[in-house]
Amino acid sequence: MIIARSAQELREALSTKNGSVGFVPTMGALHIGHRTLIERARRENDVVVVSIFVNPTQFLPGEDLSKYPRREEADFKICELSGVDVLFYPDVNAMYGDDEVRIVAPDVRGYILEGASRPGHFDGVLTVVMKLLNIVRPARAYFGKKDAQQLVLITQMCENFFMDVTVIPCDTVRENDGLALSSRNVYLSVSERNDALKLSASLKRSTKLVMQGTLDACTIKEQMLAILEPLDVEYVAIVNRSFESIEQVIIGNTIILVAARVGTTRLIDNVWM
Ligand code: AMP
Repeated sequence: MIIARSAQELREALSTKNGSVGFVPTMGALHIGHRTLIERARRENDVVVVSIFVNPTQFLPGEDLSKYPRREEADFKICELSGVDVLFYPDVNAMYGDDEVRIVAPDVRGYILEGASRPGHFDGVLTVVMKLLNIVRPARAYFGKKDAQQLVLITQMCENFFMDVTVIPCDTVRENDGLALSSRNVYLSVSERNDALKLSASLKRSTKLVMQGTLDACTIKEQMLAILEPLDVEYVAIVNRSFESIEQVIIGNTIILVAARVGTTRLIDNVWM
């Protein structure tokens, strides 16, 4: 596995490889969710590139940038064992200069839900993803449905800017008890981890209701909130795949999302139906 620390090193590494490039951007502290994306990229491409970069521009003041988990040695090993060809591991100076051009998230879709709780977050996400895609120039880029709004906005950016890449949505990987894997789960104490299960439990309830024929968004949200109630809930939302609020679930075009704080840790989860 080649480790590239700048755009130029990455380009040089890729110039020694032939065939289609599959790309998995991450912020490190890799877990089985990331590994599943990497393994899929491995199956579907000749060359696999993973990036690990904790992108400062997507963190708001007061968020967990400085304490975001960093696990360099374990991450390198996981990438190597997962068959990654090139690991892109830049520092912040290799990615950003002064007074730069930035990508701005769309006014509505970029500033509701996650964008309302974290205004400006998606500007940072889209800017870094644009940079990464331009450096790596993959045929396919893999993103998790776990970050549903991010996935939808990145897909939109690639369309709006006529970018020559296929965005591949990947299913959320969960622990056996339902908790969606996240690098932030390491912040949870044992009792908080137990409380965190309410997010996936509420989504399971929503799926059950839909399967039983309850499509009314208000009813579903009420029942979810009953499960989530002891937590500090930021939002429960039912939207279509363009992130427009809907009153009735449309099978095949609905995402049900939840964001809540468990202790000081902010968690998100969702289900696509
Ligand atoms: P992150 O390192 O948190 O920025 O995540 C990197 C990529 O992995 C993003 O596309 C995430 O959506 C995806 N990802 C994170 N957690 C999971 C999970 N539990 N299942 C599937 N994909 C995930």
